[in-house]
Amino acid sequence: MKVPKNHPRYESLVIRDKMVKANEEGILAPSALIAHGRGEAFDYLLGEKTTLPAKRAMYIAVASLLLAENPVISVNGNTTALVINDIIKLAKAVDAKIEINLFYRTPERVKKIAELYEEHGYPNVLGTDDDELKYLKNIENPRASASKNGIYDADVVLVPLEDGDRAEILEKTGKKIITIDLNPLSRTSIKSEVSIVDNIIRAIPLMTQIAEDLKEQDEELLTELIESYNNKENLKDSLEEFKIKEE
Ligand code: ATP
Repeated sequence: MKVPKNHPRYESLVIRDKMVKANEEGILAPSALIAHGRGEAFDYLLGEKTTLPAKRAMYIAVASLLLAENPVISVNGNTTALVINDIIKLAKAVDAKIEINLFYRTPERVKKIAELYEEHGYPNVLGTDDDELKYLKNIENPRASASKNGIYDADVVLVPLEDGDRAEILEKTGKKIITIDLNPLSRTSIKSEVSIVDNIIRAIPLMTQIAEDLKEQDEELLTELIESYNNKENLKDSLEEFKIKEE
């Protein structure tokens, strides 16, 4: 579909188109477009802007990734369809691994997504069917599987657009869980240690910029930054941003 550039919802429609194409290519789960629509609605109410609380959470997230021993970025179909190049850039900036984790895991989708990362210059994606997968906390549930050298062994995990069930399992492992989710009331946002309430499309590139800045700072300063942060308070502030402002 050709969207006219002067359309008031141009960007949103271009992104929708991207998602429709990804769906046709078999990259997305059956419910992925519903999840995207829910995200769009929240973003609309937010004014499609990165808020101050979101930015604050991004600084904490990036500092945590930079200080981590084994940081991992978890990706699914939506994340891949929307921001594959930005995810690769962020992974390089914070020296994190990338792991595929799918809610509705099928060998075909895993293969297609892994091939996409390879085509975009990132051949070492984890979580494929060739990888050694283990169960987190011995929970024998597909939602608890993780790559042995990736999420299973990670201390800090960035899980954008995660579903609540998996976020709950991850939280129980004691790993530091960071999420990007436009819904501040989702189980994922509530269960995570750092919750970035923003559109992944804006958040990932901004986090890469922040990484370039924080990399130059002392580790002590990053630790102090992390220790001064309260995710509950920040989520409250994020929720405040949804107040409908009258013109
Ligand atoms: P939970 O299970 O965590 O309570 P949920 O049932 O809403 O929440 P899903 O439907 O699995 O979770 O995930 C979709 C979530 O991702 C929604 O909260 C939606 O707001 C969010 N989302 C969708 N698209 C984006 C996006 N581009 N950027 C950030 N968040 C998004």
